[in-house]
Amino acid sequence: MIGREDIGGVHIKYLHHCRRQLWLYVRGIRPEHLSATVQSGEAVHDISYSRHSPVDLGAARLDFLDGQRWVHEVKSSSRPTDADRAQAFHYCHRLRRLGVEVQGAVLHYPATRRTHRYPFTPEAAARAEEDITAALATAHAPVCPPRLPRSGCRGCSFADYCWTE
Ligand code: SF4
Repeated sequence: MIGREDIGGVHIKYLHHCRRQLWLYVRGIRPEHLSATVQSGEAVHDISYSRHSPVDLGAARLDFLDGQRWVHEVKSSSRPTDADRAQAFHYCHRLRRLGVEVQGAVLHYPATRRTHRYPFTPEAAARAEEDITAALATAHAPVCPPRLPRSGCRGCSFADYCWTE
């Protein structure tokens, strides 16, 4: 089973979206390649920011880091979610631990041509550490967490798994 260093941005995103999603993901159930939502997200990313190279941090992989040490993430949705911010702060946290004094995260939403900038404050750093602990607790839970209310599952690539009786 996974440990602290194995937790990456996807784990943190799923933790904030749906703990059941995280629990399934760490057990190798990953239907993303079948999901039109994810494919469209990848297309938005490829078209909008193809000139930048992703930064590989092992378990975590962020879209790019600029010369002012801001993490950039490109999103296919139209506005920021708690999961987006938590994922971006996770990358900031990882980089700080590698000795890179990141300033924070910039989230890009090409669909609405918006960007949002979030400084990586001490509170954000503490939350990022807590998120890793929470993600591990969810990953190691003996029982699959319950489903979200159906309205929370819109666009989730696990919907077929969770809702086909
Ligand atoms: S379909 Fe709903 S309950 Fe299932 S993993 Fe996705 S968000 Fe969670």
